[in-house]
Amino acid sequence: MKLKNFFKNLLIKADGILFNKHLTCNLCGCEIFDGKDFCESCFKSITLNDNIVCETCGRKVNVSTSRCDSCKGEWAVDKARSAFIYTGGAEKLIKDLKYANKQYLAEIIAPYLKEVYVKNFFAPDAITFVPMSEKSELKRGFNQAYLLAKELAKLTDNRLIAPLIKHKDTPKQESLNKKARQENLLKCFKVIDAKAVKDKRILIVDDVLTTGATAHALAEKLKDKGAKSVYLLTVASVVKRI
Ligand SMILES: [Zn+2]
Ligand SMILES: [Zn+2]
Repeated sequence: MKLKNFFKNLLIKADGILFNKHLTCNLCGCEIFDGKDFCESCFKSITLNDNIVCETCGRKVNVSTSRCDSCKGEWAVDKARSAFIYTGGAEKLIKDLKYANKQYLAEIIAPYLKEVYVKNFFAPDAITFVPMSEKSELKRGFNQAYLLAKELAKLTDNRLIAPLIKHKDTPKQESLNKKARQENLLKCFKVIDAKAVKDKRILIVDDVLTTGATAHALAEKLKDKGAKSVYLLTVASVVKRI
């Protein structure tokens, strides 16, 4: 760990202790006295993704379907679910975790992931996370998907594995068509531990499901190495693919 990151992490830990997460709302910081994670008005701003969802990608839909417009066609993930809709309080929570260095939020979010996990994923063999490139992880100081996966593995008593790496940053893709973008994305990831995934049912954890392109690329990579099924659990999902 670089010295800069060491001190950064130390400050975050101190912040977690001083700014006691059980006495203050984890979104607005106001004082709360009931031991909950959020104050009443912040909790109301978090939309649970607990109504009708697409059976495959888990996005909110109006009419029940096995494949919605966002995931129809080729999508190698067998089943995806998310705890929240990516808007309001849930969006802020994720942004705070990622960009405001509030790593302790992974611990706050994990029980919500566990609830979705218990209802939807029957004992996967292992839990993993979307990897970041070394450069991006050094810049941020941590990988939020790793933190979430680690907390979830702890809560569900499952095995946390790291069979994937991102050995290259995703190139700028605006001018490319969908197929070329997908091929580029596939080139960014690599399975470095095939033994850990062969014949296994793997659950990938990530923060947000947006286009689903990264999850698709990772599922393809894992299945190439013999993974039996690949599932995805995200903190939040956008309602329609963007
Ligand atoms: Zn609040
Ligand atoms: Zn869908």
